[in-house]
Amino acid sequence: MPPKKRIFPRQKVCRFCADKSLVIDYKEVRTLRNFVTERGKIIPSRIYGNCAKHQRKLTDAIKKARQIALMPYTGPTYL
Ligand SMILES: [Zn+2]
Repeated sequence: MPPKKRIFPRQKVCRFCADKSLVIDYKEVRTLRNFVTERGKIIPSRIYGNCAKHQRKLTDAIKKARQIALMPYTGPTYL
């Protein structure tokens, strides 16, 4: 008998690894918006299960998009 029953975390697959057509790009605001809250905060990778590599690319893209005002820094000013 194993000492503890292991709780399996719901298996999450990084979306970007799974779907090659999904491109992380600062111009793809529609994609990026899926990964921020309505307040404009970036959703942590453990929620979506993004791999570290893609999460990094994603945050970089979001930050870049913010700099050129494609994305808001904060505040529910869009939608
Ligand atoms: Zn990935």
